[in-house]
Amino acid sequence: IETKLPKVGTTIFSVMSHLALQHKAVNLGQGFPDFEPPEALRDALSRAMADGLNQYAPGIGTAALREQIALKTGRLYGHEVSPDSDVTVTSGATEALFAAIAAVVRAGEEVIVFDPAYDSYEPAIELQGARAVHIPLAVPSFSIDWQRVRDAITPRTRMILINSPHNPSGAVLSAQDLDELAAIVRDTPIVVLSDEVYEHIVYDGAEHQSVLRHPELAARSIVVSSFGKTYHCTGWKVGYAVAPAKLSAEFRKVHQYLTFCTFHPAQVAFAQFLASTPEHYLELPAFYQAKRDRFRQLLAPSRLKLLDVPGGYFQLVDYSAIRNEGDVAFCEWLVKEGGVAAIPLTPFYEKAPGTHLLRLCFAKSDATMQAGAERLCKL
Ligand code: PMP
Ligand code: GLN
Repeated sequence: IETKLPKVGTTIFSVMSHLALQHKAVNLGQGFPDFEPPEALRDALSRAMADGLNQYAPGIGTAALREQIALKTGRLYGHEVSPDSDVTVTSGATEALFAAIAAVVRAGEEVIVFDPAYDSYEPAIELQGARAVHIPLAVPSFSIDWQRVRDAITPRTRMILINSPHNPSGAVLSAQDLDELAAIVRDTPIVVLSDEVYEHIVYDGAEHQSVLRHPELAARSIVVSSFGKTYHCTGWKVGYAVAPAKLSAEFRKVHQYLTFCTFHPAQVAFAQFLASTPEHYLELPAFYQAKRDRFRQLLAPSRLKLLDVPGGYFQLVDYSAIRNEGDVAFCEWLVKEGGVAAIPLTPFYEKAPGTHLLRLCFAKSDATMQAGAERLCKL
């Protein structure tokens, strides 16, 4: 058959996790915590299953969970949304991103993405018969050059996809960035898709600049988040989308035929945990900042150059003092010979800039961080 996605192979996350297993490497590649979700949350999940909540959930998500998401959005970002018309629970952020793109973008239209871009964006765009227009972020700040965005807008531009805190760099958008974006999309039909899965992981006292804080942007945005990142349970695959009623209605048309609904027991558990322990996500910045700082301290004696990490749970490092080769080749060598799995940046670019950077995940126990750092310090 003629392939619809000629450029797509197996995602780098699966490739590196497979190599990590094969070579018994410390896996600092694919982004997932190697510690457990809160006990009360796991108990709530077991209880929900024991209580017989094992059939389809309401398609848009349980009322209790949508209520909790709406409460959080109001409390944190000062943005009141209706749990009935503006919040949809999805099977992870991945589904929400795909549904948002499929609901809004038509064949022949363009979506602006910023490189390095999370790898699920472009295939979702291409499957609509649309085109991703790639704008590179500045290195090493990974900031957006808004003039380049202005220059890239055409009558076909239908969506701008932003991601803050950014994967893989950890860069965060400022309130000023959001003003720039608002000025660009004003009086256009452009919808903003904002991937905020690391919304609760920002450091050094900074405040996450959700587009939901910006009323003008919130009125034309679909905001996507993931419970997997916040509650250390990436395998449960529960996320959500927040958007104004009209956009949510379009989003739900796709969602209902993509997955219809999301794992019911987990929705019950998240609703209970959010209601009983709302402080969990408020404690997340300090929790991950301690991990970030510990990891950086462990890597200080190595020959890796550490870039700043304002948000997210990834550390970018420059390895050029160790070997002078491309990042994909270096990561292959590192997993086989150095015993550490990392993620190269090249797969997230349309045109890779030839930097010597790779991504290490520090959502790890102290023992894992130490084992990884020990090997990295030997290089
Ligand atoms: N967007 C970004 C930027 C991510 O890093 C991830 C997961 N690592 C996702 C989306 C997907 O989230 P989920 O696992 O909830 O599908
Ligand atoms: N988003 C995770 C990462 O950046 C991986 C998710 C996946 O494997 N699809 O590592």
